[in-house]
Amino acid sequence: MSTLQAKINALPIEERAWLLGTKSKNPLGCAFAKKRVVHPGAGGKRMVADKAEQVQIWADLMAQTPNPADERAVYIHIPFCDKKCSYCGFFQNFTREEAAHHYVDVLLDELDAAADTPYVQGAPFQAVFFGGGTPTALSDADIARLVQAVRARLPLTSDCEITLEGRIHDLTESKVEAAMNAGINRFSLGVQSFDTRVRQAIGRIDDGETVIATLRRMVEQQGAVVIADLIYGLPYQSMEVWENDVRTQFEIGIAGGDLYQLNVFPSSELARRVASGDLPMLPTTEEQAEYFRRGIDIVMEYPMVRRIDTTHWATDHRERSIYNTLAKRGCDVLAFGSGAGGFIGQMMWRNHGALAPYEKMVEEGAKPFQFMGEQADAHRMQSEIGDQIEHGYLYAPFFTKKYGVDLLTEMEPLLAAWAENGLVTRTETGFRLTRAGEFWHDNLIQGFLEAYALTQEDTVKLRKENVAVQDMIPKSVRSMLEAMFPDGMPAQMAAALAGKPSPEMENHPHMQMLKELIRKEREKERAAGADHDLNTVMRTQSRDLGKAV
Ligand code: SF4
Repeated sequence: MSTLQAKINALPIEERAWLLGTKSKNPLGCAFAKKRVVHPGAGGKRMVADKAEQVQIWADLMAQTPNPADERAVYIHIPFCDKKCSYCGFFQNFTREEAAHHYVDVLLDELDAAADTPYVQGAPFQAVFFGGGTPTALSDADIARLVQAVRARLPLTSDCEITLEGRIHDLTESKVEAAMNAGINRFSLGVQSFDTRVRQAIGRIDDGETVIATLRRMVEQQGAVVIADLIYGLPYQSMEVWENDVRTQFEIGIAGGDLYQLNVFPSSELARRVASGDLPMLPTTEEQAEYFRRGIDIVMEYPMVRRIDTTHWATDHRERSIYNTLAKRGCDVLAFGSGAGGFIGQMMWRNHGALAPYEKMVEEGAKPFQFMGEQADAHRMQSEIGDQIEHGYLYAPFFTKKYGVDLLTEMEPLLAAWAENGLVTRTETGFRLTRAGEFWHDNLIQGFLEAYALTQEDTVKLRKENVAVQDMIPKSVRSMLEAMFPDGMPAQMAAALAGKPSPEMENHPHMQMLKELIRKEREKERAAGADHDLNTVMRTQSRDLGKAV
């Protein structure tokens, strides 16, 4: 038995399932109990808490000359939004034009402090990403001067991808024109859904017609390269609404798009509103998987589509997705702005996320670190493993050649289990993800990195975050079920309550009864037009048991 197999066997059954998944008739919906992490990755090596050491490390980084063969990118963060979206876990500040204008002044000071260093001037950057927050919340003039300053002060490749992230509501004709004239050649927009009711439920400002009209104007009249994100699993987003969302992207003719899974964070306004009965229950993870399958099926109906990764597709040669690829591959990302996170070589840092200390530190001439850390020695290889899996495959000879590791041999127990559980199709040189593997790609990346760490260390702490509140079973329901089964619940139900259903027992008569209960509750809610008249406990019960079975 291999060392990895022995270590996996020694794990508690729940943790073993986090790594390997479980065998199921429906691997797309049930290979894992739920999503484990939003941003998969391995842990770092150490935090650098000492301020003087941070300053010295930064000075050393900026003094080094980069290898011209290494691709790299710039990230610039704009921490303002006009409105807070109900599902958001990243909101920082409401937009105030004066404050935003001053922020751009400070941001340019931070940029200037690094611009003339050997590290910055030593090689060109392949991509610049203005992200947020909502960069389009800035005024036309502030966007123009910021983009022009970045192009003037940093060395960029002649075909550098320069992306402006934003929301439709801000994108007046003049703002799009100002941004494009300044050098923006890609817009990454959070549409989420074209359905007005869905949009209103999650706090988006414009109705569906306005969104479509704005995108059409950008694409047809202004020649903009537009990438639009959609999210599945939103309130009121039936399968029919979702299918229409995906098709509408193609009817407008955007250059590319993303189909993202909704993550429901416990502290989000969305979770609170669903729990209170103010919004209808959300699709469970198992149901989200069906949305993903249907969304990809529709995307693949269009013959010009090129899939870039598990969630992202393009129809246009102008969509290259360079920034996302470089960042995920572990390339250097030079970051500026309040809350921005950057990576250079082994080091990573985050700028202060609160506006006042960020601005004060920059105005005092300091790089505004909130924290700094040293990444794991193998971080580049780990990132490249994650990048390949996110792109739907793993090609083992790449890692043998570059890092001298034989992943096929070392990871055999994991790969065999994934193939058995319907997550990958194996090839002689690695594997490709199945559609189920694509849906669970974050779990697979996390599982691969942790299993690889197990080949190097005696024990590894597995990561698990609470990012799928739509699947949780609240205490009230737990108590009710415990009262219904005072002598002990059927094994499948007990496993479901513990968040780890065992698919092989899903035909247990009690589970059939619960499935029927769920079906009836969902029918009832649909018939009521989600008028919020259902008892909250029953709503929650049917939602959670929907996942459980
Ligand atoms: S625009 Fe983006 S950052 Fe701002 S509240 Fe909405 S999701 Fe959050």
